[in-house]
Parts: sequence; structure tokens; C-alpha cells
Amino acid sequence: MIGLILLAAAAIAAAAPLPKAAIPEGKRFLVIQPHHDDHTTDYGMGGLIAKLVDAGYDGWFIRASNDEKDGAWGYPHNDMINQRESEAAIAILGMKGLYSLGWRNDYMDPTPLLELRAQIILLIRKHRPDVVLGHDPWGHYDRNPDHRKVARACAEAVWMAGLRNVHPEHIELGLEPWRVPHQFLKARVDYGRGHEANVAVELTQAHVARKMKAYSAHRNVYAHPSMARSVRQQLAARGLKAPELDRKTDEEAAVAIEEWHMDWISRKRGTENGLRYAEIFYYLGEFDHLPGLTGYLRDNVVKR
Ligand SMILES: [Zn+2]
Repeated sequence: MIGLILLAAAAIAAAAPLPKAAIPEGKRFLVIQPHHDDHTTDYGMGGLIAKLVDAGYDGWFIRASNDEKDGAWGYPHNDMINQRESEAAIAILGMKGLYSLGWRNDYMDPTPLLELRAQIILLIRKHRPDVVLGHDPWGHYDRNPDHRKVARACAEAVWMAGLRNVHPEHIELGLEPWRVPHQFLKARVDYGRGHEANVAVELTQAHVARKMKAYSAHRNVYAHPSMARSVRQQLAARGLKAPELDRKTDEEAAVAIEEWHMDWISRKRGTENGLRYAEIFYYLGEFDHLPGLTGYLRDNVVKR
């Protein structure tokens, strides 16, 4: 039995690095997520967003929920704080704007799928993104109902936005159908059987620094001073201290601890894939459902 366990551990340790993703040619991207912080979480995409912006892309964040339950305040107060902090985070990452659709946080199961999907189709046709970032709707069970709902609506919208007969009222308003060529999808590694990523996106230290700052902009839910107090107390109980935290207030120490975590996870994903820093995604290209065509184009296309 021990031998089997060791063999399994060796197989995990020897997992092949994921192929490195290239940044697609393009001009615009949309990040379509339920919550105010989903674009910056530790399993998220703040690094890829910073990289797309540096490559010349314009990006917008669509936040489906009102985040009323995220934070220690009452519902309207949480909604307002989370909106403000989300705006601060997208400014740090260099994105152009934020849409808050205002569906009720953690209660999105009864949200009408068709209405949510229609909103996303409208925004895809308005912005005509070359790249969409979101949760992986085919990933293993995500216990967050908002993640499941928005991921499904997004996958359907990405396909249907290209069909002229879907929501013809958008066409009457002057919009045109739009096919999204590239998707980078994420999922938590610690829910169910985890995330089945197929690419690694290489990040620089500067991308990670912006990702860290954007993440800790969400002070209503992260980097709370009580977290740093608790770490100090636990160390003190064992007769220990972290000298680097000594001259920091509890709030500054909490930010530093969150930033160490973000640096650590970005380095870990990098090391696993032969890079210094990375994020991992399930990438879908425009013709991935037609592998024969993809192979033919790769081998036969020439310059005109
Ligand atoms: Zn979320």
C-alpha cells in the first residue's frame, strides 16, 4: 500500500508542465464573473488581465452579482463598498470600466438564465471582445451557486452572440452578431476534483505586483486587521515572531500577508510549469470544436 501511495505521489510530482499560452492577437477583452473580487482571487486571472492590458488590449469587467453578502456590513452598505473596491481593482489592473448587473449575491439559482444570458449577449455584441475570461462551466462541481450560474450563462452567450436570429432586437438597435474567438476559463483547484487546466500563462514580476495590489484593494473581504492580529497571537503563543511584520500596523501586516500569499501561488503555478510566475487556465480557441479544421489550417494556410 505504501508503495502504491509513493507511486501516486511520484506521478503527481512528475506531472508534465502545461503548454505555454500565447496572448492572442486582438484589441478588446471582457471579464464575465459573478462577484466583485473574482477577477483578482488567488486562483483568478489578475495576472492575465494585466498582461492583456500591457499587450494593448482594452478590457471591461462584467460583475453579475450585487455582492450584498460579501463583508461585515448590511446588504446595501456591502453592495456600495464592494462596488467601489471593484472599481479600484480594475483601475489598478488597467481596465476601462465595470458593469454591475445587480443580481442577488449567493441567491442566483432562481435568477432567470435567459435574462442573464441576454444581458451578456448584449454586452458581447456591444464590445465585440477578442478574448473572454470567466469561470469554467465544465469544471468539476463549484459549490458557489453564482459561479455555476454565471459560468453557464457566459458559455451560452459566447456561442449565441454570433447568431443573428438570437435576440434580433439587438440587431434592430444597430448591434451586429459577434463570435468570440478566444476564452480563458478558470476554476478552483480545491473544490471537488479541481481544475483541469490546459495552458499556463507566463507572468512577469510586474504583472504579479499589480495582481497583488488589485486583490488587496478588496479590503471589505480581504486583508482584515484581525487576521494579522490572530497570526501575531498564534506566533507569540509559541514564543515566535515575524520580524518583517514588527513595524507594521495590523492593517499593513494583513496586506503584507495577503500579498505574500498571492506571490506564493503565482510562483507555485510558475514552478509547476517551468516558469517563474504563472496562472493556469482552460483555454478554448475558435475552432477547438473542429480539430480537423484546426489541423488543416495549421498545416496549409499561407500568406495572401
Ligand atoms: Zn466569486
